[in-house]
Amino acid sequence: MLGAPVDRLELDQFVEAISQKLKEDKACFVVTLNPEMLCCAQGQCDLMDIIKSADLVTPDGVGIVWACKMAGQPVSERVTGIDLMMKLLEHSGASGWRVFFLGSAPGVPEAAAKRAEAMFPGINIVGTQHGYFTEQENQDVLTKIAQASPDLVFVALGSPRQERWIDQNREQLGKVMLMGVGGSLDVLSGVVQRSPRWFNERNLEWLGRLLCQPSRWKRMLVLPKFVVMVYLKHRFRLCKKSKGKV
Ligand code: UDP
Repeated sequence: MLGAPVDRLELDQFVEAISQKLKEDKACFVVTLNPEMLCCAQGQCDLMDIIKSADLVTPDGVGIVWACKMAGQPVSERVTGIDLMMKLLEHSGASGWRVFFLGSAPGVPEAAAKRAEAMFPGINIVGTQHGYFTEQENQDVLTKIAQASPDLVFVALGSPRQERWIDQNREQLGKVMLMGVGGSLDVLSGVVQRSPRWFNERNLEWLGRLLCQPSRWKRMLVLPKFVVMVYLKHRFRLCKKSKGKV
């Protein structure tokens, strides 16, 4: 998809694939790819390389689902970061997975942990750390995570900072699942409302989020650019192909 891989799996299959990696005692880096990240990666080769190096890439956002269809490789469903995180949290108790929340404002990961403990009995949240630490404090953060010995680390530093952070530190963190989850801890903690279900069910989550957080409007400006890029790349190619056949 515009140079990035996308795994054509459903939500439960992503959970299964992550579970398998953990059973095999392997590290697992999950990228939840949305149009903003993909546009950003067009001009930044290092970000594209990071996305390519992920073990799993989910189609996060209706824009990616649409683009996959345009490319002739449809995915069966949208798999957002927050949905995958919630599903993994739901499974974590029974699977014995230890969970670490990294990122968001001070107090938010702790509040998210409390909400998760109330929602998912048996969950084991072994540590939290807010996302406003300096370069100099990074090693302390890594030590804190290593000491907590988690299986799942949810990284909520915003994209693409979180993907870059994971890439830079994944070797040191060892055999864990690392997934960038953007503003998901804000939502889980209750600090930010998830876009209303009415919008989500109609593939309009982007609009719902915009209405809940109007300050996001600038970030949405990239969406028309994304549509044009996909359209030019795939529609144009399809036209050329069908002309070739005739
Ligand atoms: N954030 C952080 N450290 C930073 C910058 C951002 O922890 O230096 C957090 C921020 O508090 C928010 C999240 O990263 O919780 C980004 O959320 P956003 O909704 O922008 O991410 P998206 O879901 O759109 O990728």
